[in-house]
Amino acid sequence: MMNSFDKPIELTNNNNGQKAACDLAIYIHIPFCVRKCAYCDFLSFPAVLNKQEQYVNALIEEIRFYGKKTNHSTVKTVFIGGGTPSSIPVSLLEKICKTVHDCFTYAKNIEFSIEVNPGTVTKEKLCLYKKAGINRISIGCQSLNDDELKILGRIHDSKTFLKTFEDARSAGFDNINIDLMSAIPGQSFDSWSRTLSKAVSLKPEHISAYSLIIEEGTPFYEHYSEVVDRDNYDVESELISKGKVAELRENSKNADVQWPPLPTENEERAMYDFTEEFLAQNGYHRYEISNYARNDGDYECRHNKAYWTRGEYLGFGIGAASLYKESRWSNPRSIEDYISFWQNKNTDSSIPVKNFVEDYQELSVSEQKEEFILLGLRLCRGIALKDYEDTFKEPIYKDYGQKINQFIKASLLDEKDGRLFFTKKGIAVSNAVLAELLY
Ligand code: SF4
Repeated sequence: MMNSFDKPIELTNNNNGQKAACDLAIYIHIPFCVRKCAYCDFLSFPAVLNKQEQYVNALIEEIRFYGKKTNHSTVKTVFIGGGTPSSIPVSLLEKICKTVHDCFTYAKNIEFSIEVNPGTVTKEKLCLYKKAGINRISIGCQSLNDDELKILGRIHDSKTFLKTFEDARSAGFDNINIDLMSAIPGQSFDSWSRTLSKAVSLKPEHISAYSLIIEEGTPFYEHYSEVVDRDNYDVESELISKGKVAELRENSKNADVQWPPLPTENEERAMYDFTEEFLAQNGYHRYEISNYARNDGDYECRHNKAYWTRGEYLGFGIGAASLYKESRWSNPRSIEDYISFWQNKNTDSSIPVKNFVEDYQELSVSEQKEEFILLGLRLCRGIALKDYEDTFKEPIYKDYGQKINQFIKASLLDEKDGRLFFTKKGIAVSNAVLAELLY
């Protein structure tokens, strides 16, 4: 296969000594997939080549525009996500990588990730990714049980995933994430533990373990919407409001084979608790609600940590969100609007292009405080009280003391060594605690 690079991209500075404005994270959205999974509400479309080319050309214009307007800022992390980024031809992906490299300054130890799905990559393709400057691979495995993969509507089976993992290793990737999913319809505790066990035997550097969420507008929603209300927690009385939800889940056991029952709340909780315990026994630590990194290196995902610590980031592509100079915005979700705008780009505009982006918002100080807490508490180590005080010039207890004390008393939050964080009991009901704390 021809490749547009004569030599591998070096992961070093490239702006000829120009002063970079600030350190950034960059997200690039590739909204194409081979087939839509039954639970997916992400912004993704069928992988049609002509559309992919037009889209990537538009992406390149957008990246160039922001590179110029941010004075070739230093970039600490790049994450190409989707969709299925590995569903587009390597030549298009190389164009994207080259544009980012040309338009921004790479930090010395940049983390450059791409999401790939089994069934859409070969070893040859992965070698070219490496050559294009990508140094971290995130593989959408979800399950190592073929029946569960079928129910999810994934295009791959467990054998294909294992081959992709092996190919990534032999292409030279020494930082690999595996995405796994629990609470899949029909999944038993034993099946989940087998998936975890097989995943760990591969020794990936990172594991993301999410619970399935039934999202509106998906085939799963048609069948399970009544059964699930994961946010139906009642902090005041007890951890989880029982009753109707449990009853509906129980009734779903009568569903036909095509739509097997969802795990019960108790089963789901058991899987969740087991995940941390099992991964800890096998050399991984949890650093965020759903994310685990191997203990023998620096493998926590720096890109996601930039989000959770309110680092500045720019999102390119449809639907991509940005946080820059205390303003937030999102790109439009229409692929046609996106392509047509960047085909007729207006390079004279300041950033963002306000008549193009959506939900533009200059954050007030109180909104910045809320985000600081909301995002920071996702990390297991929580938030540093001093960081809050340094940023907002007043202690967190002045703003939220009463509620924080109430949650500490209820053993949902804890404070130690100058950090405020969720307890294990608190993590299980974190959405409800945050809602009550902040709103
Ligand atoms: S591969 Fe991922 S983004 Fe694509 S349809 Fe499936 S879940 Fe959605």
